[in-house]
This record gives sequence, C-alpha cells and structure tokens, in this order.
Amino acid sequence: MRYSKPFASDVMPLKQRGEPMSDPLQKLQHRLEAAQRALAGAESRCTRQAAEHRDALEASENARRQAEQELKLLRTLLDNSSDAIEVIDPVSFRFLDVNETECRELGYSREELLSLHIFDIDPEFSEVAAKHIEEELNQVSGVRFDSVHRRKDGSTFPVEVSAKQVKTDRPYLFCIARDISVRKLLESERQINEKRLLLAIQCGQMGVWELDLVDHTANTSLELGHIFGYTSQESEWSFKLFLEHVLPEDRSEVSRLFHEAIARQTDWHCECRIRRTDGELRWITVRGRHWHDSEGVVQRMIGIVQDITERKLAVQAVIASERRFRNLVESLSDWVWEVDEQGRYIYCSPNVRDLLGYEPAELIGKSPLELMPAAEAARVAEIFGTALSERSHLKDLVNINLHKDGHEVVMETSGAPVVDADGTFRGYRGIDRDITDRKELERELESQARTDVLTGLNNRRYFFELAELELARAKRHGNQFSLLMLDVDHFKLFNDSYGHHIGDRVLQKLSEVCMHTLREIDLSGRIGGEEFAIMLPETRGDRAMEVAERLRLAIAGAPVLLEQQSTFVHFTVSIGVTSLVAAGRQVDDLLKRADDALYAAKNAGRNQVCKKDES
Ligand code: GH3
Ligand code: MG
Ligand code: MG
Repeated sequence: MRYSKPFASDVMPLKQRGEPMSDPLQKLQHRLEAAQRALAGAESRCTRQAAEHRDALEASENARRQAEQELKLLRTLLDNSSDAIEVIDPVSFRFLDVNETECRELGYSREELLSLHIFDIDPEFSEVAAKHIEEELNQVSGVRFDSVHRRKDGSTFPVEVSAKQVKTDRPYLFCIARDISVRKLLESERQINEKRLLLAIQCGQMGVWELDLVDHTANTSLELGHIFGYTSQESEWSFKLFLEHVLPEDRSEVSRLFHEAIARQTDWHCECRIRRTDGELRWITVRGRHWHDSEGVVQRMIGIVQDITERKLAVQAVIASERRFRNLVESLSDWVWEVDEQGRYIYCSPNVRDLLGYEPAELIGKSPLELMPAAEAARVAEIFGTALSERSHLKDLVNINLHKDGHEVVMETSGAPVVDADGTFRGYRGIDRDITDRKELERELESQARTDVLTGLNNRRYFFELAELELARAKRHGNQFSLLMLDVDHFKLFNDSYGHHIGDRVLQKLSEVCMHTLREIDLSGRIGGEEFAIMLPETRGDRAMEVAERLRLAIAGAPVLLEQQSTFVHFTVSIGVTSLVAAGRQVDDLLKRADDALYAAKNAGRNQVCKKDES
C-alpha cells in the first residue's frame, strides 16, 4: 500500500501567494476558494490513486489466477504422469506430496501416503541409504538408482528412482519412481535367453565366428580357437587363416562354396577336414549366414564351426559295419530275409537266387507261403500265425519250398520279431537254410539204422519194432496174423566150402527171393546171422503154410553163382510157422513158437516147413 502526503501548495496561507488582505470576508473567501481548490486537487489525486490501486489489485488478482491455473495444470500434469512422483522432506523423509500414479501403484490414498515415510514403501531404503543419497545429492544435481516399492497389500515391484534436491523456500527431495517390472522381466528373459544360447553353443561345442566381408577380419569365440587347437584367443582370425587349416585336398572346394555363397548371398555350408595346431586331423562342419545391417546392406557373415569328427567316425563305422554285414550276408550260403508286419518280404539277400531260383526283387511283397506247396503252406501258415500272435521266435522250422523250376527244396527257417525303438512290432527278420541234402542224408541214415546192410531187409531191431506195431494192429482189428522163422540149412558148410563171401551171396539171394515172393504188406527181417523172420499180416495159419512152402521151394530153386568156377550152387532153408490166435499174446511168444517150429523142421531133416500153433 502506497501512502501519499498532501502537497504543500494546497495548504499554503493565501498571503504567501501575493493576495490583498483588505477584507476579512474576502480573505475568508479566498481562503475558502483556496481550500476548495486544494480539496479538488486532493480529490483528483485520490481518484487517481484509487484507480492505480484498483489496477494493482486487478493485476495481482490476474497474477494469482494465472498462478492458480499454472498450479492446476502442474497438478494435472503430475497426476497424469505415468511415473510415480514423490515430494519428500529430506530431513524426516516423510511424504509431503505424491501424485495420483503413486497412490494408484501403491494402493494407498493420498492422505494415507502423506502420513507415511519413504521407509514405509521402500523396504530397501534405510537411513544409511538415505545418507548416501544425501551425500551424492550434495555433489551432483540428481541421482538415479534401482529400488523396490511395497504396495499396501504387501506385494512389491521394482522401480527406478530419479531423485533430485530442490531448494525453494526450504529443501525438498523430489523423486520420480518408475515401475520397471516389465523391463526387469524382459531383462531377465533376455539374460536367460543369452544364457541358453551360450549353453547351447557350449554344449554343442560350437565355435562362433563373424567375418567382415569388407576387410576380411574375423571375430571368433574361444571355442572356435579350441576346435582348431588354439588354447587361447591368441590368433588373429581371418578367412585366410581358416583356409590354411583346411586340408589341401578339401581347400579348393571349401573356398569355392564360400565364394559362391558370397556371390549369391546364400548360406555357406561345408564339411571338411582340418589339421589342428597339434597336427591332429579333425572333421568340421561350417555354416555361415549373411548379416544385413539396419539398412539392408550385407557387410558381414556370421556362423558357426562344429567339430563332427566323432559323428563322422561313427557314420563311417556304421557304413563299414553295414558293408561288413552285407558282405557277410551275401557270402552266406543261407538266405537272409525280412518280412513286414503282414508277413510280406521287404528284403531278400541275393542268395535266394541260388536257393530258390528267384531274383530278390521278384519276391519283394510276396509271402513265404506262396513259395510252398499248398499242403505245406497250410501247415506252416498255422505255425507262422501262432508265432506272429505271440511275437515269438521261429527256431529251426523245417518247411518245404518250391524252387522256381518246380523241384522241392527243404528249408530250415529261423527268425526273430523286429521291433521299433518305440516298441512297435515291424515284422520278422531271419534266415533260411537249404537242408535238402541234410534231410536226404538223415533219411538215408535213418533207413540204414533200420536196414540190414548185407541183405537190404529190415534189421532185427526194426523188424521187432514193426512186428509190435503189426501185432497191436492185428489185435485191435481182430485180424489173423502169422509169423515165419527161416534158417539156412548147413550154412556153415557153405562158408567153409566156398568162402564167406559166397555165404554172403547166399544171404543176399535169400532176401531177393523173399522180396519177389512175398506181398508188399508182408514184412521180412534178418534177425540173426542166417536167420530170417517174416510177418504175414491178415494171414491165417493154413495160408501161412502155403506161403512158407512156396518160399521154401523158391529158395531151393534159386541159384547162387560161384564166381571162379562160373557154376551155381543151391541152398535150402528150414521154416517154422506160427499164427496169432488168442489176443493178448506178445511177439516174443510168437517168436518162441515159430522158433520151436523151425527147430522141428531142422530135426525133421531140414528143407521143410513145420508149424506150431497155440497149445
Ligand atoms: P544148420 O543147418 O543146423 O542151421 O547148420 P548151420 O551150419 O547153418 O548152422 P550154424 O549155426 O552151425 O552155422 C551158422 C553159420 O553162419 C556160422 C557163421 O559163421 C555163419 N554166419 C553167420 N553170419 C554170417 C554172415 O553174415 N555171413 C556169412 N558168410 N556167414 C555167416
Ligand atoms: Mg542158424
Ligand atoms: Mg543154419
């Protein structure tokens, strides 16, 4: 407020202004006029001053309004800030003001927050930290640090705080707290991804490289150096140095592929052998890709190098083993095959050509049963079916196959189910062996085991085996059954007179006559030196006597050639006959009786037939 004094001229006595002082009334009149003038002057001054005062008030009101507007704007700006803003008393660390964002983020009302300290919402904010910040703020205008804010519900979130000391009427701590949860999350994800990538590179024993395509310098990882035998990052890498490590035989191809990739801006990939610094030879694989900068210009290639020696050796070992296996399979006289789950050939080794006359390709898709005669196929199908349903092994399954030209080939089949890594049944794999010759030999041996070598008749053991069977059958069907026992008369004399070999020839002649004279169902056997037995199934005793007599006569008439003299000799036999009458008799009983009858024939003078029936 401005105060102003009345001007001196307004109150000056009239005489001082040179007025005549003749009449007191006049004087008074003058003085009144003077006073009126002074009053008018004062009035006009007052009016002026009031106007001035009003202007000043108006200006101050405007200024206040403007300040209020600005404050409101500022408040709105603060409240609408995406960051939390705190005004803190730097002495007590109480909140003096906070914006809406701070309230919203922390879950407090403004009133609640204004009753709290920064320690209440920042568990990491201690007196020591506060001191530290204060010290820093004394040196620099503002500090920035990461901290944690705790919400009213107790949950926390990371914040980046920018703190600044502001001095107006008093010092304030002005803080902006930015929620960095997302940033932290992204950062930790990025770190995890980087770690993963690093781990993958380390686990994959990959060397990473970056090649400047302009100056041909290269940046490489430590692992890359290790692959080439360097112990540390001692070498200045370049494409030239890389090529020096590549074996001379592989070098031109590696270089060609690289320059082709550069020219076409395609990926570079090659596998080659390198010589390490310690002289060891290794296999590597190299992959490179062009790196486009933000403007799409290619100036670099980035890639990896991997040592694949073990893999290469493993592959080579597999190839060698496969070749070995194939050679082995192909050199076998056996036929190796594989069938699918439907039992159809999916692989046949070339030997099938020798065994069955088919080309392997002819059999692909065919079933093994298609190679067998119908009856055999039906028999084997049953065995295959059982094996298939049980997924069991096939072991030495003998089966008859037909050669392409039609003749029979006996095979012995062994196989095992083929199962995938995941346990799925895929079919069978096995081997077929041609056992035709072996079977033939077995048959021969079997026959030899049953046959008398000299005469070709059944031997004693087999004859009795057959006799037991025949006897059982006769008993079962209630059939008649007769047995003959033959013995060469004076055989010893033959041996002694003409030699043992003539004796043998006598025995052979006897067997020949038996075979010619007897029926097919009759069974004959040599049961001793010069003793023979003959079974006559379904033959009564009288009929057996006729047969025996016929046989005796035929033998007696059969000549035996004496080599040296070109003459013949004859021999005779004595025959004992018996027949099965009562059921329940054993072969031994019959033999005993036939033997008795034979004895009787001998005693009766030889070369005759005697009969002994059941008493
Ligand atoms: P008998 O009329 O009483 O039967 O007189 P035998 O001479 O035929 O009877 P004996 O039992 O005295 O003689 C049988 C002879 O048969 C004795 C033996 O050396 C001979 N012999 C046995 N097996 C064979 C053989 O395989 N070959 C030859 N050559 N002789 C055999
Ligand atoms: Mg005898
Ligand atoms: Mg005799």
